[in-house]
Amino acid sequence: MPVNDRRFHAEVARQSHYLTPPVTIPGDSCVACYGAKGPGYTHCKPCQAALDPEHRLADAVVPISYALKGEQHAQVLTFYKRDDATDAQRFQLHALLWMFLNRHQRCLVSAAGGRFSHLVIVPSTRGRTGVHPLARLVTLSLPTVAVTVNTAHAGGREFHTNRFEVRDHIDRARVLIIDDTWTTGARVQSLSHALKVSGAASTVAVVLGRRLNLDYPPTAALWRAAQRRRFSIAHCVLEAQRLPPVTQRISSRHSSNRPKD
Ligand SMILES: [Zn+2]
Ligand SMILES: [Zn+2]
Repeated sequence: MPVNDRRFHAEVARQSHYLTPPVTIPGDSCVACYGAKGPGYTHCKPCQAALDPEHRLADAVVPISYALKGEQHAQVLTFYKRDDATDAQRFQLHALLWMFLNRHQRCLVSAAGGRFSHLVIVPSTRGRTGVHPLARLVTLSLPTVAVTVNTAHAGGREFHTNRFEVRDHIDRARVLIIDDTWTTGARVQSLSHALKVSGAASTVAVVLGRRLNLDYPPTAALWRAAQRRRFSIAHCVLEAQRLPPVTQRISSRHSSNRPKD
């Protein structure tokens, strides 16, 4: 373990009071991205729109925490990218990402079907140049994939098969995709498609914040359920999928014959 491990631990513990674990609630949460969805659907609208047999979507989407519009985690995810962001603001996300990737390496590798061969940070599609702010936070010893952004889709929030172009040969690669914020997921899923078309065997996306917005009415029930759970860096959504859904666990909390997973 690195010498600064204790410092990372303390930093994540400090954030735990405002981080909110993504939850699986049948009827309320999208099976792909853990966002809110309308009744009668399995997916939220953007995920539904990206679903197509021709689209090569990520094998797993792993949000570390929800990021409710206007609340602290959402603000941290905005501020760290600014030119005047402080080292302390950047360190918040660095510690969270580093701890999560270390704690859940096995879960992520299992979702990818084997050890990762490559890493890619979702490039900015809004014309930002230079090193992506997130790249300064990721210190994994994996080769990165060279990706070009198609400026025709700059700023858009829809899935496009040609939103990104992969410039490397990545036959049979298992790629860890990292992004700061998931709003519609269009950028991550478009990148997954481009990677797989270029030969990647699997893609798993880790995002620091799955953005939620209470202006969308179905979000309220999901947010209330998520707030009943305490955030712990020791848990991830991949493990949660192997447990009974949250509504069942809440109702059976005092039962002596809780279902075993
Ligand atoms: Zn979704
Ligand atoms: Zn895990």
